[in-house]
Amino acid sequence: MPDHERMRETGCVRWTIRGILVAVLLTLSTTLGSLPATDLGFLLHKHPERLQCFEVTAGTAHVFYPRADAAECTAALLLEIDPIDLARHARRSSGWALGAYVNDRPYVASSLLAVALGKVFRTALNGRCDARPELVRQPIPLRIHLPAVPDGGDPELPERLFAPLGWHVETRPLTDPEWGRVDCVELNLSGDLPLAEALNQLYVLLPVLDDAKHYWVAEEEVDKLLRAGGDWLVSHPERELISRRYLAHARTLVDSALAQLADPDSGPEPHQDSGRPLAAQRRSAVLERLRAAGARSVVDLGCGDGRLVGDLLEDPAFTEILGVDVSTGGLGAAERKLGLERMPERKRRCVRLRQSALTYTDSTLIGHDAAVLMEVVEHLDLARLPAMEHAVFGHARPETVLVTTPNAEYNVRYPNLAAGAYRHPDHRFEWDRAQFAAWVERVAERFGYVPELDGVGEHDPELGHPTQLAVFTRAESARTDANSEDARS
Ligand code: SAH
Repeated sequence: MPDHERMRETGCVRWTIRGILVAVLLTLSTTLGSLPATDLGFLLHKHPERLQCFEVTAGTAHVFYPRADAAECTAALLLEIDPIDLARHARRSSGWALGAYVNDRPYVASSLLAVALGKVFRTALNGRCDARPELVRQPIPLRIHLPAVPDGGDPELPERLFAPLGWHVETRPLTDPEWGRVDCVELNLSGDLPLAEALNQLYVLLPVLDDAKHYWVAEEEVDKLLRAGGDWLVSHPERELISRRYLAHARTLVDSALAQLADPDSGPEPHQDSGRPLAAQRRSAVLERLRAAGARSVVDLGCGDGRLVGDLLEDPAFTEILGVDVSTGGLGAAERKLGLERMPERKRRCVRLRQSALTYTDSTLIGHDAAVLMEVVEHLDLARLPAMEHAVFGHARPETVLVTTPNAEYNVRYPNLAAGAYRHPDHRFEWDRAQFAAWVERVAERFGYVPELDGVGEHDPELGHPTQLAVFTRAESARTDANSEDARS
């Protein structure tokens, strides 16, 4: 590092030379509980004992571990900004304004830090970890410290961006003795989140805080946003502000992102019939099937932001509703959207939300009449499906299981979807009708269920329905029903 000088006024770790910002820092700490904290090294794909350096757009990124022992592990990402390189870059591409980044707004380093984060931790951002696969999707206790992030003059902004995702947010406004308040805060985040989710949130929200992404944003930035936004952005109350700022206020891109966030299955036409979004049609179809099965207690597995839970609550036929999701962000959004706190006690008693991973057996899932897996299986790695099958059909064993999933054949009808692309960036696969039917058949056979196949949405004679639906009825209950029919006749 060049002979730097620590910013004395603010006491934060930003190094400057003659007023020019040359380095910013982010630290991420965990205590993994039953596992050694140094497993963080596996998750980040960066060895705790080595200092590693990477060339990035803005300069050099260094990864090192100020603390790495069994109890606690802290990884640091230090971005050393090369003003000369940045200036060279600025000359090459008119989009990079050196002044904007380094001189008049010395604090605005968040975009650069996000770019570095995306490059250095790419595998972790993609949620892959072969050494500790079970840890990747599991929420772990995390603390993130950013000595200085811009807030655009709104010290509440970090809270509005991070709190809905399940973070406990602490900010300290920073001041400069000469200029006073500097539109910048020290930011501390703590919470239990899967690491990949946390990194993706930083990747999107740091430039959003910054709001100074001056470079040209191309169409693919929408995909990047939706991919990194995964499931948490859909239900984020500030998704509009996030999309606008992330996409540098480019109107058509923002509109496209918001449309896709409103309904992940949507491209423009023709995804709707009878004027209703496919997602709403799916919920109706699921409710109808649950009523037909006579279910009273229902568990919505992978409930996301809780829309189906909300619909179930509207119908007094459903007396016990449990929403389960692996994402604390999604559950937080569900809690707010459902207004659980303001709900009358009688209704409130019917519903519970619970954080749990579907790929692990969970005894609280036993004893419900029905389980719903609506647009969830395709979010699991194929290799993890058998674990989910065991947990749901083998262990929880409700009388009825409803599964919906996209019909890959129908994708050609979405004009915005490239050939072979998935409807949602987090999908791990999408099945055609034969593949889904084969899976349904196999699961039913293996776990003793009677299957029935159906579809949701406008039916295309060649391609089928946009959404595939399977109803599994536990074999012994199917037989009992048949017997009682016999008895009656
Ligand atoms: N059922 C909702 C949400 C579908 S999106 C709807 O139809 O609108 C998929 C959901 O599955 C997300 O909320 C995601 O967090 C959840 N999910 C993905 N993997 C999971 C896992 N292993 N365990 C529990 N939930 C999971």
